[in-house]
Amino acid sequence: MNDTGSAPRAPEVVAPGSVDRLVDRFGRVHTDLRLSVTDRCTLRCTYCMPLDATFKPREELLTFDECVRVVTVAAGLGVRSVRVTGGEPLLRVGLPDLIARLVAVPGIEEVALTTNGLLLGAQAAALRGAGLHRLNVSLDALDDETFRRIARADGLERVLAGLEAASAAGFTGIRVNAVSIRGITEAQAVPLARHCRRGGFHLRFIEFMPLDAESAWSGAQVLTGHEVRQILERELGPLVPAPGADPGQPAVDWRFADGSLVGFIDPVSHPFCDRCDRLRLTADGQFRNCLFSTSEWDARAVLRAGGDDLDARLARLLLDCTAAKLAAHGIGDPDFERPARAMYQIGG
Ligand code: SAM
Ligand code: SF4
Repeated sequence: MNDTGSAPRAPEVVAPGSVDRLVDRFGRVHTDLRLSVTDRCTLRCTYCMPLDATFKPREELLTFDECVRVVTVAAGLGVRSVRVTGGEPLLRVGLPDLIARLVAVPGIEEVALTTNGLLLGAQAAALRGAGLHRLNVSLDALDDETFRRIARADGLERVLAGLEAASAAGFTGIRVNAVSIRGITEAQAVPLARHCRRGGFHLRFIEFMPLDAESAWSGAQVLTGHEVRQILERELGPLVPAPGADPGQPAVDWRFADGSLVGFIDPVSHPFCDRCDRLRLTADGQFRNCLFSTSEWDARAVLRAGGDDLDARLARLLLDCTAAKLAAHGIGDPDFERPARAMYQIGG
């Protein structure tokens, strides 16, 4: 069982060419849709967004009706989980209404939300009431100065208060995601682990990926999961691989002697592309088959053209997007090409 209480779902592999499922050329079955609802944000994290970010006009963002229509079509093709993200999704007015509608889509088994936590204090109870199953809160640092250095804004106290509010609202198994960056995370890993242990949060470190808007990423800036694990073990004692980790998750969990877990998502040092079951929809309505995809499939154009066969054309678009997926993201390959859009424009 995973920490939502549901049985873990192993990634499926079926014969390429299955027409009613989102199966790519390598037999990977896609059951997870990342739905970005805005490119706007309350922070300007160095690894995600430029200080002078410009945003899509509101009329270019999908409406809630359009989001629900796409998710309904995707569910008909086997998508089972939807992860709402952004930009900062809690900036989207009325988000709990969208969550409630996504939870009610036939076939959708899990709706999750990834947030920077700043607005969580005010919205946690409404999100819980809307039926949100899972909450991921991003937090890279536990001291004000480092928080500000990364996020280029204040907000640490509000994020911590947001986490408390989420627990008080009844969310369990809350994940805290920290991007691991050389020169920063070495000093934050242990305080984050201690804080998450105390609060009952599931901490996960995610290696810094080349999706920063300022194209400053280099491999040397990635503090690998292995290195973070060594730091944690030196200060907090041995970690052992956690049996029963959800094989459908990119995170690999390790366990301290007291039973608390820490997860590592290592897309740079240990790519998990062979197990990838994700597709993405940007806030402006473009399907992508990978964070690092250099092509997009225009769902908004299909939605706004209307017509009796709208759902069939959306389904075709999703199938085409899936069929074009490459074997791997290619970070580290000599011909690796960064996507034109940064993380906040794609949806992490
Ligand atoms: N604003 C929300 C938040 O920060 O949680 C949701 C969107 S954010 C793009 C989603 C996740 O992507 C966050 O956990 C963030 O830390 C992570 N992220 C952003 N840029 C990244 C990068 N270049 N490498 C690794 N993770 C990144
Ligand atoms: Fe905003 Fe999240 Fe990007 Fe930070 S990582 S700038 S909080 S969208």
